[in-house]
Amino acid sequence: MAETKSDGTGKKRKVERRFIDAKTGEEIGKSTVVTNADDVAREVTIHKVTAKGDPGKRRPIAIALWVLAIVFEVLAWLVFNGTLANLPGKLVIWLVAFIVLDLICVVVAGQLWKQANHIDPPSEANKAEFFLKSQLGAILSAVAFVPVIILMLTDKEADSQTKKIGTIAAAIALVIGMGTSIDFHPVSEEDLTTMEETAIELGTGTVYWTPFGHKYHLNPDCQAIINSTDIYSGDVQAAFEAGRTDPCKFCAKASGSDVLNELAGNTATEDDTASDEAEATDDATETEEVDEAA
Ligand SMILES: [Zn+2]
Repeated sequence: MAETKSDGTGKKRKVERRFIDAKTGEEIGKSTVVTNADDVAREVTIHKVTAKGDPGKRRPIAIALWVLAIVFEVLAWLVFNGTLANLPGKLVIWLVAFIVLDLICVVVAGQLWKQANHIDPPSEANKAEFFLKSQLGAILSAVAFVPVIILMLTDKEADSQTKKIGTIAAAIALVIGMGTSIDFHPVSEEDLTTMEETAIELGTGTVYWTPFGHKYHLNPDCQAIINSTDIYSGDVQAAFEAGRTDPCKFCAKASGSDVLNELAGNTATEDDTASDEAEATDDATETEEVDEAA
């Protein structure tokens, strides 16, 4: 009764899924899904994740690294303008080395800053302040390379070969530094609150994500994660900290999410949702008939 074997025609059938706690090995839930997917995970290991809510030392370390990045920028400039001419070996190698060290600091600081913002998001109440806090990594990447690029380009006495290598290296570093430090999905304290409320309204407040998926799901039986044998669960904050900041679209709809739909009081009114619902009901009836016959 629990499951009807796939007959290879792609018809929908019932599959029972068991949810096992990764720590205790105990069954913590069970559900039956109606699907035509062949590789539905029947046994799912749930890894419970608790939100930290504390960015730790990420912000102070990021700031220290940005200061260090600017020190390396100054050193690159001092090599370029001849102040550090007595360094051993070729000066152009020192120039590129300081630019690379500058870049390493900027990239690591940018990542730490973004992580901190996703653990403890800044408020959106003041737009300018929110932009500054969200994109500080990108802004400081510019500070770490643009001045030295301008200084090198405008230096009329410098050797043209050194000038070429220096500016190209710094320009590439600028692109990499900014590209890795921009927060393409900045989150605010307000976003997090809204999402927490939605997760409670539409589900239980618990959300789910997979090791490689980019979104979080409100339903552990969502069609997008139904094949995954390992699922992480926690509140929205925990999903945010894990880098899953966008909710899955399927979960908010009726398709593949009967449980949620009941919880949401069947308030979904979209046409496609209604037809999906009708289809799901038809298929369920069909499967039941097959079960009875067998
Ligand atoms: Zn989903």
